[in-house]
Amino acid sequence: MKNKRALVYIAAVLGIAALMAVVVWIKQLQRTGTETQAAKTEFIMDTVVEIRASGPDAEAAVDAAFAEMSRVEKVFSRHLKDSAITRINQGSGQWVPVTDEVMALLEKALHYSELSSGAFDITVGRLIDLWGFGTDKQKIPPETELAQALATVGYRSVEIDKSAKMVRIPSGTIIDLGGIAKGYAVDQARKVLEAKGVKSGMIYAGGDITTIGAKPDGSSWRVGVQHPRESTALIGIVEMENKTIVTSGDYERYFMDNGIRYHHIIDPHTGYPARDVISVTIYGSEAADADALSTTIFVLGLERGKALIENLPGYEAVIVDQEGNVWVSSGLAGQITLL
Ligand code: ADP
Ligand code: MG
Repeated sequence: MKNKRALVYIAAVLGIAALMAVVVWIKQLQRTGTETQAAKTEFIMDTVVEIRASGPDAEAAVDAAFAEMSRVEKVFSRHLKDSAITRINQGSGQWVPVTDEVMALLEKALHYSELSSGAFDITVGRLIDLWGFGTDKQKIPPETELAQALATVGYRSVEIDKSAKMVRIPSGTIIDLGGIAKGYAVDQARKVLEAKGVKSGMIYAGGDITTIGAKPDGSSWRVGVQHPRESTALIGIVEMENKTIVTSGDYERYFMDNGIRYHHIIDPHTGYPARDVISVTIYGSEAADADALSTTIFVLGLERGKALIENLPGYEAVIVDQEGNVWVSSGLAGQITLL
């Protein structure tokens, strides 16, 4: 009787062991047998976007990630006719219904406004239009027009009614999510890749780069930080896995007048391009936050920017000042190779 019970016990243990071996074997087959790779480039959100992935069906994953980025652009671009942002701008002065997604990104943007005492401010839309950045009519605006546009700027005037899911901006104000939406789109694309089983991938969107896992060969991704004055040079290389790097620079969209560079990152307190630094790179996990922070710190300048990032857990920075000096925040110093 005792022997019989022992035999049943042994048989059960062996059975479970065999089952586990089969599961491990199938898992391995999935990993090696059906792993595919894909890489594609498209022009979305006014910039070249490249997505690379390896996973069970990499091509479908990459296509789905691009589709998600296009969807995000259609929601958050203020230059597209039926976007949520266009509806808020056209309905200025009135309450406009919004989705949870739009509400969440507006709240994130306002959070960075609070954090920076308004250095980051999505109500800069009329200022951006006046300077003509992103169009072929870039010019220094007359003072009177600048003053009028400045009067429409102020993040505190963006009203959010969470329970009614409505947003209201003052009549005449224009919101512009150009400082945060590209990062959000990159986050969304990353989530789509991950949901499709991608364990190794990279999304490059203009100055924003996000990585999933390590490279297919197992080594870390090596991401270059763009030199702000030499388009083919780097100032450093950062090794990363599952992290994002976002850069804001005065070299992306600008025009020169009398030897002075006028670019698209505006100090909402003066109405003029921010002058203290020439590039800010943010390192962290969420691209939307890194995107907002790169613009924020660009406007704050070196000293106030340093203070903000050193007190912010999870995010690091590389700041280049007007003289070309490179400052690296303490948490990133061990991980970046300066060139
Ligand atoms: P890029 O879009 O070139 O990567 P940024 O992330 O720095 O660069 O965003 C710049 C864009 O952000 C501008 O084109 C404009 O739409 C918007 N913007 C400019 N100044 C501000 C500001 N002070 N606060 C919030 N958004 C801004
Ligand atoms: Mg930004």
